[in-house]
Amino acid sequence: MPTLDKTQELIVASVREFVARHVLPVASELEHRNEYPHEIVTHMRELGLFGCNVPESYGGLGLSYTTFALIIEELSRGWMSLVGPIGTHSVICDIIHRFGTAAQRQKFLPALASGERRGGLALSEADAGTDVQRLTTTATRVADGYLINGAKMWITNGRYGDTFVLAAKTDAKADPPYQGISAFVVEKGPGFHVARDIDKLGYKGVETCELYFENFFVPTENLLGGVAGEGFKQVMTGLESERLNVAARGVGLARAAFEDAIQYAQQRHTFGKPISQHQTIQIMLAEMGTKIEAARLLTYSAAEKKDRGERCDLECGMAKLFATETAQEVAWQAMRIYGGAGYTKDNRIERYYRDAPLLVIGGGTNELQRLIIAKGLLAKYPVK
Ligand SMILES: Cc1cc2nc3c(=O)[nH]c(=O)nc-3n(C[C@H](O)[C@H](O)[C@H](O)COP(=O)(O)OP(=O)(O)OC[C@H]3O[C@@H](n4cnc5c(N)ncnc54)[C@H](O)[C@@H]3O)c2cc1C
Repeated sequence: MPTLDKTQELIVASVREFVARHVLPVASELEHRNEYPHEIVTHMRELGLFGCNVPESYGGLGLSYTTFALIIEELSRGWMSLVGPIGTHSVICDIIHRFGTAAQRQKFLPALASGERRGGLALSEADAGTDVQRLTTTATRVADGYLINGAKMWITNGRYGDTFVLAAKTDAKADPPYQGISAFVVEKGPGFHVARDIDKLGYKGVETCELYFENFFVPTENLLGGVAGEGFKQVMTGLESERLNVAARGVGLARAAFEDAIQYAQQRHTFGKPISQHQTIQIMLAEMGTKIEAARLLTYSAAEKKDRGERCDLECGMAKLFATETAQEVAWQAMRIYGGAGYTKDNRIERYYRDAPLLVIGGGTNELQRLIIAKGLLAKYPVK
């Protein structure tokens, strides 16, 4: 755990209190109904959480990556879906701030920071997830702008969001293909359609949509940074912070499952004693606690490195891989500790168990993380 300064302590305490008061009492019920948590999201907006990573000069909180990860961990401990509305939203804030023109920053960042605008990342397609260079959505040059045609899959905030960073091919013949990808900051309008909300195993409440575009017009001034062919690099750079964000979600979810399980283990009796006094349960608790601590250390060490402005793709990949595999394992172990009670909707364990796999898949699958990590390690340890 990083050493927190006074401001960080205050922020963590206020998010923790918010979660205890407004989230925990209703999360499972809303989740089972797959209902968008409008009221909670409004509260999050009032707390300024839509502007966590937007600099103060654009109306945001200008928080460090470490502080933002602490917030994500606390929210996720309450209900992982709540990170949805601010997750890819914060990724596009990062991308626009880093690569946008002065006019794009001025136009979009203050409204995104206040939550007046809600953002999302429209990158993946049905046939282009891990291998995103294969995307087929096109942006064709016309007078004053581009016409977007194609479809996007898995887009979080697709229904309630209104502003997206969208990746499309401006040169379908480019070789290598990524050089033909451009990014646009788009606002919903004629030709931008939400085809459907995807029915998911977990991560309910927040919408994940299939979108399609029919001659959707985007003005030239919305081409990110004013340069074509840079979209792949721009979006991939933004995804480094997404990996940290997903790692922090993993820590939060694992903590939630562990904290529930260790309580339950001390209250549930078998053979005349609490199950926490049986050695098999103690072994599980010990492993869960140790892995969570390791996941937390990896996550905050990567966040601190990013805060220092150092290259940290290797560390972000390691944190994402370990923290999310830990979340998945700990959710399962918590269910075992609960026994039959964990398999019912009367307890939160089943929700953690259904939410955890997304962390392994989203933000770049853990198979992809392993490739990134191996590449980083091979570069770090060349043959002497
Ligand atoms: C709930 C949800 C929300 C999402 N939100 C968004 C969003 O807001 N915006 C967005 O753009 N996308 C979003 N995504 C998409 C997500 O990023 C992709 O699902 C993810 O990148 C994996 O792509 P895929 O599903 O196409 O799987 P595939 O790429 O088809 O992968 C299938 C399997 O093959 C493995 N694999 C692929 N290539 C390799 C390789 N080279 N080596 C080893 N293994 C490999 C993968 O790891 C995986 O196990 C979301 C997805 C989900 C499920």
